[in-house]
Amino acid sequence: MASTKVAAPTIRQTNMLIGGKWQESLGGKRFPTVNPVNEKVIADVPDGNEADVDAAVKAARTAFESGPWNKMDARDRGRLMNKLADLMETNLDELAALETLDNGKPIRDSKTADLPLAIDCLRYYAGWADKLSGDTIPIRGNYFCYTRREPVGVAGQIIPWNFPILMAAWKWGPALAAGCTIVMKPAEQTPLTCLRMAELAQEAGIPDGVINVVTGYGQTGAAIVKHPGVDKIAFTGHYETAQKIMVDAAGTLKRLTFELGGKSPNVVFADADLDAAVAGAEFGLFFNQGQCCCAGSRLFVEQPIYDKFVDKLVARAKTRKLGDPFDPKTTQGPQVDSDQFQKIMSYIDKGKTEGAHCLTGGTRFGDEGFFIEPTVFANVTDNMSIARDEIFGPVLSVLPFKNADEIIERANSTYYGLAAAVWTRDVAKAHKFAASVRAGTVWVNCYDVFDAAAPFGGFKMSGMGRECGEIGLSNYTELKTVTMSLT
Ligand code: ADP
Repeated sequence: MASTKVAAPTIRQTNMLIGGKWQESLGGKRFPTVNPVNEKVIADVPDGNEADVDAAVKAARTAFESGPWNKMDARDRGRLMNKLADLMETNLDELAALETLDNGKPIRDSKTADLPLAIDCLRYYAGWADKLSGDTIPIRGNYFCYTRREPVGVAGQIIPWNFPILMAAWKWGPALAAGCTIVMKPAEQTPLTCLRMAELAQEAGIPDGVINVVTGYGQTGAAIVKHPGVDKIAFTGHYETAQKIMVDAAGTLKRLTFELGGKSPNVVFADADLDAAVAGAEFGLFFNQGQCCCAGSRLFVEQPIYDKFVDKLVARAKTRKLGDPFDPKTTQGPQVDSDQFQKIMSYIDKGKTEGAHCLTGGTRFGDEGFFIEPTVFANVTDNMSIARDEIFGPVLSVLPFKNADEIIERANSTYYGLAAAVWTRDVAKAHKFAASVRAGTVWVNCYDVFDAAAPFGGFKMSGMGRECGEIGLSNYTELKTVTMSLT
């Protein structure tokens, strides 16, 4: 990529979308979204309250019950979704720059990862719109029995700030394909790209009320969860928020899918391709400033190669280029906000006081913005907080291990179960690990390989249900059984 700095984007939309109208909050309040590079306010967006959520749910309900979406020919729904994907591709540079401005992620990542993956996801699910079908069931007696897959209704979708565009696409894609309508709340830290995507959805011709976006903080999300007009909640974020959502959703027994955090084991056996594993360890943790739910934050390295591996890893971590995310050469931007910055720095302090060896990083980078040096801790033990808790930052804990028997138990000794990886040239070892590790995704000799067709989600406290793939679509459908007498 050329090194010329990419220009900051024009901000086109700072109101929220309810029933096809761009509007302020009925409460009149707004809140700022902050640039993590310089801590300055980028823009103010509406602070959606319960009345706004109610209006959005009513709009979504009307669009679902009497609007054209659910009744539209499924092929036409798919066509409109493809049109949205095309518009996102046409406006890729602008959307990528807006994502970088609001989130701080390097422009090279916004352009080559977030946007292409989001566009691909919408196209993948557009293809599913006309492929939802039921079964004919041979039941006892003189009956004709069949099933229908129908849209679940109004979907409340609450997303985090680490991959704003991609998370919106992961949620919109299956919901739209199934014929659902949407009330989305983007994260308070990064509302701008979701609003712009909703503008493009309007431009694509997706009817009013099908996609509603209400901006706000956690209480706006809670209002969506509690609203009786919402049939299903899809949430990505922290498990403690998911626990609150379960409680709030209990009154109306909403369908729930959660994609939560992780403390994913990345396991390197001594027979692995060393350089590939080092590169995978670096990418698996530092990508997106370490702000990935599936980050390989517990790096287990087999003892015979431990010292050599750690030396190479530290050398590699030092080559990461921190700075202005609009510079195409930058590989690491700032953390998203002050809260995340403080939390990560406190874990770095804990790692030091608990006796881990900080081999590189461990400090703030620069004197403005939320930058943190890539940090590698060696000689980490399983009970240290940096080996147990999700840090969600550029902090890698390296733990030595003795052999294949020991590693499974240690890898599984966490309340999370989102992802895992194993590096080895021994096929049997790889399959044994893949079968034994309690995680929703296992990567073998690779890390962070995502595809809209491949299911993603967590075991244990990393989530409920799966996103992406056909199973991601089934979250947005209800199954109806129809039995007809033939006598
Ligand atoms: P993170 O730690 O990644 O910020 P959170 O779980 O706090 O994760 O936030 C993820 C999303 O959930 C955000 O859009 C946030 O505003 C929303 N949220 C926070 N609290 C609640 C809640 N009680 N009910 C519904 N949504 C919430």
